[in-house]
Amino acid sequence: MQKRMNKLIQERIHDPYYEDKKYPEGTVCPRCGAICEEGRWVWPEDKSKKSNSEEEILCPACKRIRDKYPAGIVSLSGSYLWSHKEEILNLVNNIIEEERKRSPLKRLINIEERDGAIVLSFTNDKLARRVGESIYRAHKGEIDIKYPEEEKFVSVFWHRDEESKEEIT
Ligand SMILES: [Zn+2]
Repeated sequence: MQKRMNKLIQERIHDPYYEDKKYPEGTVCPRCGAICEEGRWVWPEDKSKKSNSEEEILCPACKRIRDKYPAGIVSLSGSYLWSHKEEILNLVNNIIEEERKRSPLKRLINIEERDGAIVLSFTNDKLARRVGESIYRAHKGEIDIKYPEEEKFVSVFWHRDEESKEEIT
């Protein structure tokens, strides 16, 4: 039993949620319409294309969305965030939109306010990282990126407080 559990954990780490799995050529995801072509998931040019796979196979991103199993988390906090919320969320939305158009596998799973922070979860670690780094570049503050070596998972924390006048003088 113990051995089996270990094996499951191992598989979870080394097969990062089916991204490396081989899908039958021409599989169309019933949820988002992405198609597997030459081993890669792409948005189809012809949207009326039917899946040539008998069973319904979700693409890896839709699987993560269904299971709420992110590959990356970005947590935003600090008083500066709340006074610049609209600006920051616009930046985030632009990146999400751009990356989603580029690849069906790079998508937002969820965004929520939790304990004074805005927490975003993504289907792709690089997308999470790009969102965090873009905010940091545009708005400064502090960033902390945790990338466990074994796993394809990233936690990004960004924080900035409003500088008060008393602190400066
Ligand atoms: Zn899909």
